Amino acid sequence: MIDNSLVVLNSLSGKKEPFKPLNPGHVGMYVCGPTVYSNVHLGNCRTFISFDLIYRYLKHLGYKVRYVRNITDAGHLENDEDTGEDRIAKKARIEKIEPMEVVHFYTVDFHQILEKFNTLPPSIEPTATGHIIEQIELIKEILDVGFAYEVNGSVYFDVLKYNQNHHYGKLSGRKIEELIHNTRTLDGQSDKKNPQDFALWKKAEPQHIMRWPSPWSDGFPGWHLECTAMSTKYLGASFDIHGGGMDLKFPHHECEIAQAQAIHDHPPVKYWLHANMLTLNGKKMAKSTGNNILPMDIFTGNNDIFSNPFSPQVVRFFMLQAHYTSILDISQEALEASEKGYKKLMEAVNQLTEINPGNKAGAFDTKQWLEKCYAAMDDDFNSPLLIAQLFEAVKYINLVLHKDIPIDKYQLKTLTKMMSVFIREVLGIAPEQEYASNTDEILHNTIDLLIELRNNARSNKDFVTSDRIRDRLLEFGIHLKDGKEGTQFTLN
Ligand code: AMP
Ligand code: ZN
Repeated sequence: MIDNSLVVLNSLSGKKEPFKPLNPGHVGMYVCGPTVYSNVHLGNCRTFISFDLIYRYLKHLGYKVRYVRNITDAGHLENDEDTGEDRIAKKARIEKIEPMEVVHFYTVDFHQILEKFNTLPPSIEPTATGHIIEQIELIKEILDVGFAYEVNGSVYFDVLKYNQNHHYGKLSGRKIEELIHNTRTLDGQSDKKNPQDFALWKKAEPQHIMRWPSPWSDGFPGWHLECTAMSTKYLGASFDIHGGGMDLKFPHHECEIAQAQAIHDHPPVKYWLHANMLTLNGKKMAKSTGNNILPMDIFTGNNDIFSNPFSPQVVRFFMLQAHYTSILDISQEALEASEKGYKKLMEAVNQLTEINPGNKAGAFDTKQWLEKCYAAMDDDFNSPLLIAQLFEAVKYINLVLHKDIPIDKYQLKTLTKMMSVFIREVLGIAPEQEYASNTDEILHNTIDLLIELRNNARSNKDFVTSDRIRDRLLEFGIHLKDGKEGTQFTLN
């Protein structure tokens, strides 16, 4: 099925390029995962949903994909640079719990939320703390080739030296002169030779609890190193796709390139793909500014931003209605429009089973339609264009249903099969009832309603109805108990 028409926007060249993996038929893809020190917000989810779409489509095309997405559980300091407290250690200190309790709690949250969004798990999900040895080995190699230096137990990458033979800034477009100019004032008392150098290993202060022994000091690895260590280990020194949010281009991804290039003398990644940001009120959603919303608060409606709840499937559909490289702003109106679209699409798919095909073919050219669907996805995973094509099919399905327009067996079969393939397999959109996020809540609300109806019946002396409600519920294992505080229930 792999037909080689796929083109992807490579951030490295800024151009769309034909996608030709290093190993025909196989794709290695690494995506920077979350730093698990707080609940994953909806902006983070957009990036992971974007790469889920990419993963799904590559698999659909027949590639054997190894998708590695890490968990950052150490080394990511407060201000994305080489200073400040470790984000996880800080949370542990504030909450008075172990750093690994923080990590586990938010890793579970991350998985639960992504499952609600129907994202597929990656093939490997390695952690930074599980790869300290690999990171130490990388530092030794970078020291050996002369692109790093040690000062007082910390090791730094020598950006200026690297830039003599290589190009630091090739991904982000940053100019070394500007970096020198911008960083000089920020970094007063550091051990670094030059302020734009970045940490590979930091000696831990006495109060820093997340620490490991190394040849240089008891300390911890720099944030950028973990991704180089884990991508190299699981995908090799050259691999096909590296992804993450746009905001990681600099410094994180630039530094990843420098680290790998320094050791191997060739670029680590063929295609750099960057997902654009989700915004709220026109500003980037971010943990640090408070301008964010948690997915659960959208699903339950427990928030001050939207006037009603929206299901995970509707929110996913809303995200896929924008191209992954475009900025997307979330709002009540936009979610309502997506909900309408989602319902219309799913309804048409369900109604396909009600159609009886005739012998006469209708005007809908399924071959051309299929070509357009693939052309959309082959053009850098253009999900909004694909969705537009799906609505072309919906239009036709509705004509068949309501205007007696003909459809033959072949057309119906193609539409039934391919609508399902594109919606479920490629876009990863599932019918809502399969992903009811809050079945417990729905059950509880339903029982509360029945209790209310029973109480009404009792006050009207309609004991036939009130007893019937109680007895029938008991048959389902729901036991009503009347007491001073009203009626309570237990589930057997
Ligand atoms: P973090 O946990 O902060 O390292 O972020 C995890 C991922 O979410 C990274 O790939 C970020 O680029 C991405 N991300 C953070 N904020 C947003 C946003 N507002 N929209 C889309 N992606 C984001
Ligand atoms: Zn990374």
